[in-house]
Amino acid sequence: MAESVVERLNRNVIAAGICTGCGACVALAPTGGAALIETAEGPLPRFAPSAALPDLAWDVCPGRGVPYAALYRAHYGCVPDNWLAGCFEAVRTGYAADPVIRRNGASGGVTTQVLTHLLDTGRIDAAIVVRQGVPEPERASPVVARTAAEIQAAAQSVYIPVAVLSILAQLQPGLRYAMTCLPDQAAVLRRLQQAGHPAARQIRYVLGPYTGTALAPGAIACYLRSKGVRPGTDPVASLKWRAGEWPGYMEIVLASGKVFRTPKVYYNFLIPFFVTQASLQGMDFANEFCDLSVGDAWSPRFEALGGGHSVIVTRTKEMESIIREMESQGLLVTEAADPLRTLEMHGHMLDFKKRGSYIRNQVRRRLGLRAPDHGLRPVPLPASRVAVELVIMLLFAVGRTRVARWCVAHIPERVIGPLFNRLRLGWKALSKPTKRKGLGTLAMQEVAREG
Ligand SMILES: Cc1cc2nc3c(=O)[nH]c(=O)nc-3n(C[C@H](O)[C@H](O)[C@H](O)COP(=O)(O)OP(=O)(O)OC[C@H]3O[C@@H](n4cnc5c(N)ncnc54)[C@H](O)[C@@H]3O)c2cc1C
Ligand code: SF4
Repeated sequence: MAESVVERLNRNVIAAGICTGCGACVALAPTGGAALIETAEGPLPRFAPSAALPDLAWDVCPGRGVPYAALYRAHYGCVPDNWLAGCFEAVRTGYAADPVIRRNGASGGVTTQVLTHLLDTGRIDAAIVVRQGVPEPERASPVVARTAAEIQAAAQSVYIPVAVLSILAQLQPGLRYAMTCLPDQAAVLRRLQQAGHPAARQIRYVLGPYTGTALAPGAIACYLRSKGVRPGTDPVASLKWRAGEWPGYMEIVLASGKVFRTPKVYYNFLIPFFVTQASLQGMDFANEFCDLSVGDAWSPRFEALGGGHSVIVTRTKEMESIIREMESQGLLVTEAADPLRTLEMHGHMLDFKKRGSYIRNQVRRRLGLRAPDHGLRPVPLPASRVAVELVIMLLFAVGRTRVARWCVAHIPERVIGPLFNRLRLGWKALSKPTKRKGLGTLAMQEVAREG
């Protein structure tokens, strides 16, 4: 007898460790047929044994891979001219004109300002955003924001996995929504829309961050242990990932009133130990299936100016005209940018996703492990680039073991934070010539996907 969708997802994706926790299958399950369980690596779906999921859940599951070439054609009518940027209308740098939204935002507050404008102008009835602290301080969930204040309360990046698409099952028929999504979720959402899924079609605007790496939730306990807080002794009362002045710091307030703050560059030490599998296997950095993609505008000029600056990419004509409208109303402060120059701000991560994930997924397959198949092969792919990736893979493989996680939790953050930052910058400088070689002319060759 043929395997059911539940059996296939359980065996080939969830048990295989390549579920991204997007939440789509949970939304597609019949009522009571699926739930999300919280694990140390992030949310995972759990199905009732008798649940009958539609074939659509199997077809769109990003753990199996995203058929990018077909998706670009179905959504944009063509594949991108530039495979690093994706299909786009215009690229700018800028920030929200409202100083409070700008300051509270992860980079320039642009996402929050645009969502607020969509609501204020009656284009949407509500926005689906992600909020840290729901249902409890260390967790994060998608929430439906019906007022500007609720949208603004959800500003900032959440670096732990959130099953955003699970909320599709709770949308109110007839209402129009905007939604913030990570790249794998935006791709699934587009595929659901193409398949005519009613709730997915209620999402009128998709906004999303450039997405490098996310952290397994266990990173929070590790960080606290490195600050000398033993598990279970002083619960977290609140957590912000990008508090204060851009680029911001992680801020954790404990029930006892103790406050810990660590600059973003220093808590990056958690990445090799807690990076999620979804971050390693996804090919999309610039959130190429959003109407609006926003990232940090990393550049010496903006970093010297301070205050929060974003890279803003419009990918549809309608979103481009909304951004122009906001500029003319003084809601956004922007500068036109050369799309190719802005790519240089993120060369390292673009390479990590476009070439790195391809190599990592190939290596997994060679080792007999399952890996998503995106049907694209990066060209050129020099042997030196493969060699660099093997070193990175080895570091992640060792870092993610229980022993390594235990060790790092017992090194004081004031030591490991700056030390890791120096090592990271050193490795970046060393590997830069290899990682940038051929990146400027990178193309993606279509290859047949596995079944
Ligand atoms: C996991 C992750 C990794 C990232 N990596 C990079 C990187 O490597 N390089 C880079 O330039 N930028 C990265 N970003 C993007 C950056 O941190 C900012 O989110 C982006 O610049 C938008 O800033 P903003 O001020 O416009 O956002 P804000 O105005 O603060 O709004 C952010 C919006 O995104 C929503 N949101 C936050 N987290 C999530 C999430 N996990 N899933 C879905 N929606 C969410 C919030 O609800 C809010 O509505 C990352 C973001 C995330 C979440
Ligand atoms: S990747 Fe998404 S659709 Fe696939 S099993 Fe995981 S939660 Fe479900």
